[in-house]
Amino acid sequence: MKFLYFLLLTLLPVIGMSQEISFARNLYNVYESYREPSLNCRRIKHGNILPLIEKLRHNSKFVVHKLGESVEKRELFLIKLGTGKTKIFLWSQMHGDEATATMALFDIFNFFSANDFLNETREKILRETTLYFLPMVNPDGAEVFQRRNIFEIDLNRDASRLVSPEAVILMNTFDSLNADFGFNLHDQNTRYSVGRNYKQATISFLAPAFNDKKEMNEKRERAVKLIGIMIEVLQQFIPGHIAKYSDDYEPRAFGDTFQKKGTSIILIESGGWKDDTEKQFIRKINFIGMLTAFLSIADKTYMEIPADNYESIPMNDNHLFDLLLKNVSVEMKGRSIPLDIAININEQKSDSEKKFTTLGTIEDIGDLSGFNGIEEMDCTGLTLKDGKVYPKKIETNNELAAINFQKLIDEGILFLPVEKELLSYNRQHDSSEGSFGQSKFPIRLVEATGFHFQLKIGEQPAFYLFKNDIPKYVVLNGSVIGLKR
Ligand SMILES: [Zn+2]
Repeated sequence: MKFLYFLLLTLLPVIGMSQEISFARNLYNVYESYREPSLNCRRIKHGNILPLIEKLRHNSKFVVHKLGESVEKRELFLIKLGTGKTKIFLWSQMHGDEATATMALFDIFNFFSANDFLNETREKILRETTLYFLPMVNPDGAEVFQRRNIFEIDLNRDASRLVSPEAVILMNTFDSLNADFGFNLHDQNTRYSVGRNYKQATISFLAPAFNDKKEMNEKRERAVKLIGIMIEVLQQFIPGHIAKYSDDYEPRAFGDTFQKKGTSIILIESGGWKDDTEKQFIRKINFIGMLTAFLSIADKTYMEIPADNYESIPMNDNHLFDLLLKNVSVEMKGRSIPLDIAININEQKSDSEKKFTTLGTIEDIGDLSGFNGIEEMDCTGLTLKDGKVYPKKIETNNELAAINFQKLIDEGILFLPVEKELLSYNRQHDSSEGSFGQSKFPIRLVEATGFHFQLKIGEQPAFYLFKNDIPKYVVLNGSVIGLKR
């Protein structure tokens, strides 16, 4: 009997959640029918969402209300949906270069506009809750794909002083709604790991603190429970890739301030997922997580979820590099020593759709056990060898465009001296970029013909990996390229 009681206790939350789990699976399977196709990369701008908002105005399910304008006069809108008693407020992209959740919000609008086998759930959510959305809080930042607004202010540090019009709009909207739940939607560094388990933190959650002591109260506890249900549901799609965000109290931040005002706040941070540069899979996970949370709020199933679901998730940690070469033999001062080499790849500023460039940098060298790479290569038996410098300096764009990089790499040349003004091409271009000799993997451009590569932190990597005196790979910028002989 005791055992039966125990069994019942442990199964109860699962039984209560079965609806959410099957709803999430359905959403996962038919997601494509809701995905907003006109939004397909992180560099979306205000101009991309305006026609979609205009479309919602003509849909009787939605009420669209203009809230005000950004510094550069871009309109901010509140989109209302549903007639229920429980109010849920969601706002996205207060950091201009964090667009993942904005894309998911428009998928959610499509979900609620649809008429299909999920009608019953859809109607239940709209009957029990009223949803308020403020997509793209920082459209001026989004326009140039930067975190801060055009005053160079981090809006998430302007919740107290309120000098930016976007921050004032967010605060006034929040105060006027007095919502029960709030979703604060962001993107985080793609190199965050889930504790020390070396997996990328694809989604990190936080129920923000409302004071320095990080105390718990009923409202914060409610956020913890709701996050618990999202963790339970999303683990099936991204097992081991969910972490917790730091709960240090920050009175200048909106999430913390709103939690203090008595709304249950859920922070969702979209991180990284391998080979998902434009975060289209993570967007889908956002979509599923938020809709499942709405259903759980409508059903009140989250109330049954133990706080431990949230508490037991590891914190975000910093144990990942973009590329980790393990155990490379390096000849230094007449000795051959084994080294791990960590490389990070950073996007260079660009506001034009997918056409950004990337620059690889050596971040660390030595014994890097305890760290992992999102891409990783065991280089045991491989020796690092320098490349040669091209004997002639390239002076014009046309000359550069005519260079056959593959041929140079085959000849052992990894460095190309160029005039100073051509140095800005010294990046890895996206394959869609037609310029620079159509090459996805350009060799490293240098200024001096007498250049000599040194393996050190801060350098842009360019070297060969040899096996028994035969070049097997070339490491250029942030890529390892296999060489055919
Ligand atoms: Zn953010």
